[in-house]
Amino acid sequence: MTKGVLTIVSGFAGSGKGTVMKRLLSRHEGYALSISATTRKPRNGERDGVEYFFKTKEAFEKMIEEHAFLEYASYVGNYYGTPASYVDEQLNLGKDVILEIEVQGALQVKKQRPDALLVFLTPQSGQELERRLRGRGTETDEVIRSRMKRAGEESKLMSSYDYILVNDDVDRAVEELHGLIRSQHLAASRNSGLIERISRELAVYQ
Ligand code: 5GP
Repeated sequence: MTKGVLTIVSGFAGSGKGTVMKRLLSRHEGYALSISATTRKPRNGERDGVEYFFKTKEAFEKMIEEHAFLEYASYVGNYYGTPASYVDEQLNLGKDVILEIEVQGALQVKKQRPDALLVFLTPQSGQELERRLRGRGTETDEVIRSRMKRAGEESKLMSSYDYILVNDDVDRAVEELHGLIRSQHLAASRNSGLIERISRELAVYQ
């Protein structure tokens, strides 16, 4: 069995990445979504061990010391990190593991695992991002302005990603993401066993 593909999906707040992830996992088999640890408080309806592992700052810092994270970052005053053990266990089982994380963490993972696939999800325009954030109807003008400012900062790192997915149609974005991950399985670098076998089979004709 071949190892799974490690994929990182990032996107602006309001890019719809949560919806794309949910639909990808409900439609296609063979995926495992990593559950992050965070020091932020659970939102309404969030359960420990489902959306996140909710930790105190002290517990999180202990995990940092123990090198328990594949990556971690500070985002809007809280820590977020990917526990390494689950990711490796699932990759070794042949699952395609997805991390839905912000840009600083994504770039840390790419340094350690150059074969990771980095995908950035975005609406088709800045105006559309603002429209979506306002459409939620729950945020003040000030919060929306600060999200848009952050999106501007994050956009500077988009060119470090392998692929940019425009999410103007969720179903299309899901199928494009699935296609990108499938095509990673076909990379020559992941198929050295097959290449060696065929070369051996052809050696008799030399
Ligand atoms: P939220 O608090 O809205 O759930 O997440 C805030 C941001 O943190 C999102 O951009 C999300 O992708 C990112 N995030 C979630 N888990 C992790 C993680 O383990 N590591 C990093 N670096 N970012 C994360």
